[in-house]
Amino acid sequence: MAKQEDDFRKVISHAKEYGYVVQSSEIYDGLSAVYDYTQNGAELKKNIREYWWKAMVQMNDNIVGIDAAIFMHPTTWKASGHIDAFNDPLIDNKDSKKRYRADVLVEDHVAKIETKINKEVAKAAKRFGDSFDKEQFLNTNPRVLGYLEKSQTILKRLGRSLENEDLADVKALIEELEIACPLSGSRNWTDVKQFNLMFGTKIGASADTAMDLYLRPETAQGIFVNFLNVQKSGRLKIPFGIAQIGKAFRNEIVARQFIFRMREFEQMEMQFFIKPGTQKEWYQKWKETRLKWHLSLGMGEENYRFHDHEKLAHYADAAADIEFKFPFGFKELEGIHSRTDFDLGSHEKYSGKKLQYFDPEINENYVPYVVETSIGLDRMFLAVFSNSLQEEELDNGTSRTVLRIPAVLAPTKAAVLPLVKKDGLPEIAHQIIDDLKFDFNVIYDEKDAVGRRYRRQDAAGTPYCITVDHQTLEDKTVTIRHRDTMEQQRVLIQELSTIISQEVDMKYWLKKI
Ligand code: ATP
Repeated sequence: MAKQEDDFRKVISHAKEYGYVVQSSEIYDGLSAVYDYTQNGAELKKNIREYWWKAMVQMNDNIVGIDAAIFMHPTTWKASGHIDAFNDPLIDNKDSKKRYRADVLVEDHVAKIETKINKEVAKAAKRFGDSFDKEQFLNTNPRVLGYLEKSQTILKRLGRSLENEDLADVKALIEELEIACPLSGSRNWTDVKQFNLMFGTKIGASADTAMDLYLRPETAQGIFVNFLNVQKSGRLKIPFGIAQIGKAFRNEIVARQFIFRMREFEQMEMQFFIKPGTQKEWYQKWKETRLKWHLSLGMGEENYRFHDHEKLAHYADAAADIEFKFPFGFKELEGIHSRTDFDLGSHEKYSGKKLQYFDPEINENYVPYVVETSIGLDRMFLAVFSNSLQEEELDNGTSRTVLRIPAVLAPTKAAVLPLVKKDGLPEIAHQIIDDLKFDFNVIYDEKDAVGRRYRRQDAAGTPYCITVDHQTLEDKTVTIRHRDTMEQQRVLIQELSTIISQEVDMKYWLKKI
């Protein structure tokens, strides 16, 4: 646990030091769970956004993209169920005055039991050596079986109480498990209450005409209310998808995991409209397609897994998360949801407008079913950034910090370094930049010895360093150094553009999906 926390702290401080992410309004001591992306972060975020948009909209002739407003008519949120059901159960500790999500307190308790299981496994593995059979151990060791049963009983009871809105039982469970406030150590809890996560605001100038609004908690509803506008103007035939990238806002109670859980964040969502009855097959298809998108970035197959939901949201008939191995363990990165006709059907009811599709193949009108893919851009950023940050031991006994961001997403593709600040080398470096900058983000760096500049670019995530030296003056060649292998090649200046584009051009990466 301590190592995990330490690794995560390193990620956060590296993000700040190398111009990726800082706390919002830091000079005023920051705003909790709100972050700003600085120069490199803004580029990385833009590249992830583009990689998703191209994979969705450009590569699929039946998917189009829109950009709906953040403000929406308030009835939208009545229809979507957010006003009535977008709640988290919260509980306050009376001594520390700290607020927690009641379900998270219980889940953290269960996670501690799971840690005990892992310890037993590690102990046994050491004892039995090569003959250790983990599966058999998990299925037969009485202590492990006891722990497993305990955690399952707790989770089942929590699930049942939440489903039945039995908040008194959630509190009773917290008391029975003797869960204490991590801050004050006390078990002096308030009752559990439901808390709506939407941010409210007002539109209009005078008090009597002002209308209550919400900042959208998801981008999906902007797609649903525009379903017919887009279908008609694009003459789209089912199956087709509408994609959108935009800000969403949630007044999260537990917001302590850097950009994993933010109050203002960005979502990349796609709603795929299909014929009722075909949802199982499309759900399966989108699960596979989205996993392929992730794997195309080469961040390790072992770092992803599906988590199929047993408890479904009010709108879904199937749902799964793609989980990623963050520094604090496997957690949801993306959701794939089979949303039935819940949203369109509900908007029909509340708006009184028909939201149906005329299917020429069967000569019938129907409300389409929907399969949604929904990923947080900031969470994807954290996945890429935390996975890329590595401390590497080198052959000569030293170590280096390297940010192995997939080259296609890297903020800066190459740094051009004159070996010395004289003899005409800086001028050639600038000429190289003037040529490459039409295609790539490139920077100039002349400060410090070249070895230190390499290290600096490794840590910033720049895939290439191009060094101009005295030989360049004679034969128009430079060295190009690869971030990941640290190998150097001597190449002609005129070859640089082709070499770099082979690694960073999105088209080569998109072809892998
Ligand atoms: P969680 O269970 O982690 O709260 P969720 O199931 O509520 O997430 P969805 O409503 O399915 O999430 O949203 C889709 C995606 O949006 C998530 O998979 C996640 O990547 C992202 N997301 C949701 N809430 C946040 C947040 N507060 N900060 C950053 N990203 C978020």
